[in-house]
Amino acid sequence: MNHPMIIGGSRVGEGSGGRIIVLNPATDQPVGTVPRGGPPEAAAAVDAADSAAVEWRRLPASQRGLLLRRVAESMLQQESRLADLLTAEQGKPVHESRAEIATAAAYFRDASEEATRVFGDIGESPQAGKRMLVLRQPVGIVGAITPWNFPAVIAARKVAPALAVGCTVVLKPASRTPLTALALTALALEAGVPPGVLNVVTGDAASIAATWLGDARVRQLSFTGSTQVGKRLIALSAEHVTRLTLELGGLASFIVFDDADLAAAVEGVIASKFRNAGQTCICANRVLVQEGIADRFREAVAQRVAALRVGVGTDERTDIGPLIDDRAMDKVERHVANAVAGGARILVGGTRVRPAPAAADRFYAPTFLDRVTGEMDISREETFGPVLPLTLFRTEHDAISAANDTPYGLAAYFYTSDATRLLRVSEALECGIIGANDGAPSSAGVPLGGMRESGLGVEGGRWGIEDYLVLKYVSWGGFG
Ligand code: NAP
Repeated sequence: MNHPMIIGGSRVGEGSGGRIIVLNPATDQPVGTVPRGGPPEAAAAVDAADSAAVEWRRLPASQRGLLLRRVAESMLQQESRLADLLTAEQGKPVHESRAEIATAAAYFRDASEEATRVFGDIGESPQAGKRMLVLRQPVGIVGAITPWNFPAVIAARKVAPALAVGCTVVLKPASRTPLTALALTALALEAGVPPGVLNVVTGDAASIAATWLGDARVRQLSFTGSTQVGKRLIALSAEHVTRLTLELGGLASFIVFDDADLAAAVEGVIASKFRNAGQTCICANRVLVQEGIADRFREAVAQRVAALRVGVGTDERTDIGPLIDDRAMDKVERHVANAVAGGARILVGGTRVRPAPAAADRFYAPTFLDRVTGEMDISREETFGPVLPLTLFRTEHDAISAANDTPYGLAAYFYTSDATRLLRVSEALECGIIGANDGAPSSAGVPLGGMRESGLGVEGGRWGIEDYLVLKYVSWGGFG
């Protein structure tokens, strides 16, 4: 079945570049096709967003909020259908897909509330006879480009706050997983979001992005994806000085101190590492464990990893689904081979598995590696797979130095029962998201974002709407 783009409220079934086949990564069977759009469709989407802009920003915030609340409600009503679609195109276990749809709905609900709380300021001016007004207004048309690992949540946390404050949006979802974003946009239209307010273009990423950043009407681009592409967008944004929100790659450390609650740390690392088969930007990439607790931690983690169930995402009992594509599998195998060649030991897993006769050859066993060092590829690059590498450390200073020894600054985790250390380590880690005795810190309503080469700006909660607003200062004279 072909899933058309949505531009100006119309279904656009054909793209200038033919069609993209969306494959189910668990079976290699087609889930559907989408048009391969390019510059003409990208430009048409901006025209549609431009035509809808004036009416949308004029609508009272309470009415925009009401529409977004309706979108959230229909997402929850259709959670099961949307989750099945998400699992079909992305592969993750269907219980994770349901949780993702619920979180995406929470982003719409939160944004619906924030919509009514965009206030300016009025105050005395430092100069005599004047007053100062500070206005906060929608930035204008917003471009959004999203990756394949969280097709619903990441689209929602860009689109919902942008719409809430009165921006119109042009969205390009990842080509491997475009169907969920198209389904959410169809729901938004059905919920009453006017045509042209939210437009989706599928297709050739580079030329769509270049078209949007080459159009002065697009005032803000919000991108989630690799640091490599993020850097290209920074260069392209120079032409019209387009503002950017960038949520890029990470290399999270998960630190376990000797004084940690062992059971909590074990559960935390399993939750952080193996969600979405390890294909999350904030997942634990390096696990650093202090020497005094290492033996007990190793044994307990090995048992938990060995018990994880690999399977197709449609099976409710599945913990670990397929990797997204063959390139992802190559990277995981390369990292494990490089670690083993450098002296690491495989405690659990370390091979491909085929959980069902019809399954694609894209499932990697949950893997636990011991004796990993900071020089190995697995410690230096995002693995994006279900591999947990263990490295020992001696002192708090050593752990913090290792965790900060990366150009990235997205997330880190640590477990300790010492409250002073909790604050000291939180202050010392150079990243935007920290799980302190928490393996699952992300949620709607909190500010998520990275430092250094992990990005610019934050998404979520009242902080996440700021990137969609411009601040304007009015000097009001004539007060005598
Ligand atoms: P990616 O290759 O950078 O793709 C992300 C999106 O950018 C897709 O829609 C892709 O379109 C598009 N794209 C590709 N080349 C482009 C170009 N030259 N110009 C403009 N857009 C382009 O990343 P990915 O492999 O899908 O996603 C995984 C990465 O995202 C990881 O590095 C992960 O850490 C990061 N991530 C970060 C966060 C965060 O919050 N910081 C969250 C999730 C993921 P096509 O699909 O059509 O190629």
